Amino acid sequence: MSLYSPRLNRLIEALRRLPGVGPKSAQRMAFHLLDRDREAAAQLAASLGDALTGIGRCPKCRMFCEDEACRYCSDARAGHGQLCIVEGPADLMAIEQGTPYRGRYFVLMGRLSPLDGIGPDELGLPQLGALLDEGWVQELIIATNPTVEGEATAYYLAEMAKTRSLRVTRIAHGVPMGGELEYIDGGTLAHALSDRRAV
Ligand code: ZN
Repeated sequence: MSLYSPRLNRLIEALRRLPGVGPKSAQRMAFHLLDRDREAAAQLAASLGDALTGIGRCPKCRMFCEDEACRYCSDARAGHGQLCIVEGPADLMAIEQGTPYRGRYFVLMGRLSPLDGIGPDELGLPQLGALLDEGWVQELIIATNPTVEGEATAYYLAEMAKTRSLRVTRIAHGVPMGGELEYIDGGTLAHALSDRRAV
């Protein structure tokens, strides 16, 4: 039998599914919301429901998007001729916040991992191919993480660009091996992006 009453148990179990939240902190959060801040709890419930129904994926760049026109897929951004490929939404935000880059993006929502059943289709690479064929891309900037799978993904992307005779660069300098872009400070990331090299 569970330690908690059924509703409390469901709440704590739901909170435990968040990244980095163990049983103790889930319990603390639940008690806090129920006991100390019911208003915040109601706000959280409402905005979560609202976000789930109102936020989808941009059909062009796969970033989260809630309007018809994606803010990262504007013509002004396409005018830079650069398309930066990242593994996830947090990587896009890290580049956007920490560097002066204002070109377009493509968000893979993962990385190639055949053993986990993640291949080119799961990463939207056919969509990326269509984007590259639109004709405005002059440089493909590969900003996948410097992990084994991120490097394998980068190699695959570089091949896609080369068959279309596009310039390909890969962010390099200052990004630690095994690191993740999301956790790197803006200065390091800006340096890495400005020091990218051809692959
Ligand atoms: Zn978009």
